[in-house]
Parts: sequence; C-alpha cells; structure tokens
Amino acid sequence: MESLQQVWDTVCSIVKQKISTVAFNSWIGIIKPIFLEEDRLYLSVPSTFQKNIIETNYLKLIESTCEEVMGFKLRAVLRSEQGEPEGGSVKSALDSQYTFENFVVAASNKFAFAAAQAVAKAPGRTYNPLLIYGESGLGKTHLLTAIKNTVSENYPSYNIVAVQGEDFINDFIESITHNSQPDFRKKYRSCDVLLVDDIQFIANKTAVQDEFYSTFDNLHRAGKQIVLSSDRPPKDILSLDSRLRSRLELGLADIGAPDYETRVAIIRKKAELASLELSDDVVDYIADKIKVNIRQIQAVITKLSAKYIMNGQIPTLLLTIETCHDIISDISRPAITVDIIKEEVSRVYQIPPEDISSEKQSAQISLVRQIAMYVTRELTGLSLKEIGAEFGDRHYSTVNYAIARTAKEIRKNQKLSETIEDIIKNIKSKQ
Ligand code: ADP
Ligand code: MG
Repeated sequence: MESLQQVWDTVCSIVKQKISTVAFNSWIGIIKPIFLEEDRLYLSVPSTFQKNIIETNYLKLIESTCEEVMGFKLRAVLRSEQGEPEGGSVKSALDSQYTFENFVVAASNKFAFAAAQAVAKAPGRTYNPLLIYGESGLGKTHLLTAIKNTVSENYPSYNIVAVQGEDFINDFIESITHNSQPDFRKKYRSCDVLLVDDIQFIANKTAVQDEFYSTFDNLHRAGKQIVLSSDRPPKDILSLDSRLRSRLELGLADIGAPDYETRVAIIRKKAELASLELSDDVVDYIADKIKVNIRQIQAVITKLSAKYIMNGQIPTLLLTIETCHDIISDISRPAITVDIIKEEVSRVYQIPPEDISSEKQSAQISLVRQIAMYVTRELTGLSLKEIGAEFGDRHYSTVNYAIARTAKEIRKNQKLSETIEDIIKNIKSKQ
C-alpha cells in the first residue's frame, strides 16, 4: 500500500508539471490511490462532483502519466466517497517520508541540514530567515517539509503557512484582481512560520517582490520564522530587489551535489523505505549513472518497486539499466564503443570478433550477433539504424528482431540472462 502511494506520488509529481498549480491542487491533489488490480488503478475522490470533473478533464492525462511511470497501460477507475467532507486534501505518503530521519547527511548538505534542524527546534530564534539553496533535486523541498512537520509536532498551536513560490505569486495576483488584499495579508502576515519553496519564481516580478519584502519584513520584526528555498543563490537572481537580496543573503545554506558514497547511502535509504532489496551491483549502477539529481534516484527506485509489485519483476541489473534509461531520457552517452562490446561478447562465446559483423549465418554466430546487438542497445543509446550500420550494414528491422528475440530468451533462460549480465558488467568495468 505504501508503495502504491509512492507510485501515485510520482505520477502526481509529473502531472504537476503539466497543469497549473491551481488545477493540480483542486483536482489531482485530492485523489487517493486505493488499489491496483491487474491493469486497473482504483482511485478515490471525496465527491461525485469532483469525480465527474476529473473524469472529463484529467483521466487521459492520469492514465498516460501512469503508463509513463509504470511502463504499462492501465485504466484509472474513479470512485467517489461521498459523505466525506469535501476538499479535505490527502496528505501524501511522500510528504510523510520527507523527515529529518530519512535525510542522508553528507558533506554536501550538512550545514543546510543542521540549520534546518535548528530552525525546526526553535523557530524564530536561530537562522532567520533561513534560505536553502541548491540545484533541482537536491533535497530543498525535503528539508522544508521536515521543518514544517517537526514544527507542527512540537508547536501544535503555531500557525504554519507553507506554500510554493508560485502560489505566493498567484495568491498575490488574485488578491489584486479580487480586491482582497486584506485576506492575502492576513494569510501571510499572521503566521508563526512561513515557508516558501522555490522563491526564485518571484524574479522579474517587481510588485510581487515588493509585497514579499514587506511580508518578510513584517514577520521578521515580529520574530516569526521565515524559511525559503531557491534553486539559485540570491546574487544570481539578477532581477532581485537589492534590499531583498541582502536580507536573503544573511541566512544562506547551500546544498551541493552528492558524492558517490552519499548517492549509495541515499539509494539504500530509498530502497529500504520502499521495502525493495537491491544487490550491490544494482546500487552501484544507479549511483554511477545518476550523479546529480537525487529526484531521479528516487524515480528509479519507485519505478523498480512498481515493476516488482505489479509484475513481479526482480530488480536485476538489466532491469535497472533499462529503468535508468527510461528515467534519464538524455542519459549521457557512455564511452562504450561497439568495438568493446563485440570484443567482450566474442570473448565470452569464443568466436573471432570480426565474425560478428560478417555475413556468416551459422546458428552460433547468429546467436552471438543477436546478443551483441542487444547489449549495444542496452549500453550505448544508439538507434536501431545506427546499430545495424555497426553490424555489417544490417537493416534496422533485423536489429529490432534480434533485440526482441534476445530479450525474450533472457526471460526464459536463466543461464543466458546471467551470461548477459556478466557481459554488461565486464564492459562497464572497462570504462
Ligand atoms: P528539490 O526540492 O531540491 O528539487 P527534493 O527535496 O524534491 O529536491 O528532493 C528530490 C528527491 O531527492 C526527494 O525524493 C528527496 O527525498 C530526495 N533527497 C534529496 N536529498 C536527499 C538526502 N540527502 N537524503 C535522502 N533523500 C534525499
Ligand atoms: Mg523542490
């Protein structure tokens, strides 16, 4: 169940990028995943009214995103739980995983982590404002969420307002359009802790910056805690008002890219949270492939977990390679050449490498050729056409057939599957 929730959270994070925040919060954020049965995903929403709107407007988007995440087609079936109060948004499981405990502390983030913890422990008294900055996918939202949840546990009476930079902008614009500025100010100025995630969005928006500055000033003077995140340091947000910039620079805590050991620790942590067992090879492969964006690491784990739960697929190295390919569409082309692949495959099967690209059609040579094409597809990101050209100018449909056939054989034949895993491992270790 927890894992279905994780899959759903991944779907949500993708849908979120495709529609407006308002639409997302109104229609997608309220959906609760119930269970998955074969190719049907049952979802529940509070009311029939909401169900109808979602079915008309978002069902296709939900289904195509699910396919993107899980790798197979499925039908989303909505249920309404009428009778329950409307609009009560469901707290996401991921949100509850964004705790200090689940955050892997390393050199690249230890200051930001310590500052976040200090703020959560005693809001308004240590780093104020606290501005966490780091590139996308390095844990800013995770830390902000951990602060929010810890404060709300330790200080139940506190009024905590946590929004996205974009929401702040939208609320502000709306308050002007509807002449409801007092409401806006009431919301943002009467809180004990204000958390604004992705503040960089206010760049280039003068009126919003002014409003933000005075909100900020107001809260600060009242000793209220302000926590912000940005994917750039204030000095790089060019259009930032200089007053605002110097204020923000006071409480900077940056997060850098994780090193190899940290990535390994994060992968293990994420796998543990998903109750997924990963071999050292697999952990090493992911840590090696995904160097910067931890969100992509999470996506790989979630996808592997979905494949295991839904199709019983064990997270082998092969499956992991495939999954990483899917996640990083522009996966950096490894410095693996087709020659290295041919050499390794022919070494394992003890035939001369040049036979692989030759016209020879003996059963053994054809088999080895097909395997080499399969491995090339796995490791190089070359197109079918390009692979054909590398293997004695063969037509792409021949390559396609070779790959499909090998993939099918791998599923049936344990020994072949192991041999190919070894080949891939060896080639990788030569890099
Ligand atoms: P950002 O907001 O900076 O773009 P997020 O906070 O959304 O990044 O993090 C992306 C993913 O990476 C989340 O799943 C988060 O839990 C994970 N993550 C980032 N840093 C760490 C860390 N140090 N330990 C554990 N998970 C992390
Ligand atoms: Mg974020």
